[in-house]
Amino acid sequence: EAKSHGRNGFCFFTSALQERAHKRLRMASDLHVALEQQQFYLVYQPVVNLRDGSIHKAEALIRWQHPQRGLIPPCEFIPLAESMGLINEIGDWVFHTAAQQVRLWRSELHPDMQIAVNKSPLQFQSKTGPTPSWAEHLKADNIAPEAIVVEITEGLLLDASESVQRQLLSLRQEGMRVSLDDFGTGYSSLAYLHRFDIDFLKIDQSFMRDLAPGSKNLTLCKAIIQMAHELGIQVVAEGIETRLQKDLLQEAGCDFGQGYFFAKPLLPEDFLVFARSGQTPAP
Ligand code: C2E
Ligand code: MG
Ligand code: MG
Ligand code: MG
Repeated sequence: EAKSHGRNGFCFFTSALQERAHKRLRMASDLHVALEQQQFYLVYQPVVNLRDGSIHKAEALIRWQHPQRGLIPPCEFIPLAESMGLINEIGDWVFHTAAQQVRLWRSELHPDMQIAVNKSPLQFQSKTGPTPSWAEHLKADNIAPEAIVVEITEGLLLDASESVQRQLLSLRQEGMRVSLDDFGTGYSSLAYLHRFDIDFLKIDQSFMRDLAPGSKNLTLCKAIIQMAHELGIQVVAEGIETRLQKDLLQEAGCDFGQGYFFAKPLLPEDFLVFARSGQTPAP
């Protein structure tokens, strides 16, 4: 397209790039004020127990309500926050907000409620110094550490530095749970599952595509579930959008399901209604 327009096309291309760079720059400076001005909020997606239909889990997902640009999805600003060194601050805010939420739900909904928070690999890099750990915060606020599930990605395990290993170990020793997100997408190595103790594994939503009896993806899901169970790991299937997908995973022995078939990420008040109504399709 740009080539066919010769010089003009090139100019157009350049200005489009400039426009993008400019937008990024603006977003970067806006990110700085977003925290102070409380432009972030969390939505919570139900995670349904596929054995009994209970809803004792949720994943916290961040949203940015920009005063001019409207709602900005995390895939647009999380990588930016990571490159700007802001991810620790944002990540801590997510953690604190989610922790308060789960404390409330443990008294309002069910004593076993758990909330999963996503933790960027970069948040494992520079956590030294006087900042109190998440565990210390939980203690101070009298929140059971078992209520928190920390979602990490395979990229973190690829690093596999001693420091990362130590941090993951201490998260679990402190009583929090660890979940391996987006399993099957990156450098998936079964060795990770063995080397790092984790509590949950989330099968990536890409495996849900064309899920049908006899399909390759179903075979893969079954293998992952069996292997995980043999290692004492519980499995969450992400991105379940249809009844068929839910039925097949349930039959395959998958422990939990998450996806639009059950519910989209919800505001706290909507989550409460959803969890109370028990309106998930019967297992
Ligand atoms: P993730 O942790 O794998 O979260 C699941 C994503 O899949 C969410 O997108 C969710 O809204 C979406 N999803 C859930 N069910 C379905 C479904 O049935 N179909 C489809 N197509 N999508 C579904 P979201 O909220 O846009 O978040 C995208 C990614 O951004 C997350 O992927 C996570 O990697 C990152 N993220 C979100 N919140 C945070 C956060 O607080 N901290 C960090 N570090 N990353 C976050
Ligand atoms: Mg996640
Ligand atoms: Mg995921
Ligand atoms: Mg994902």
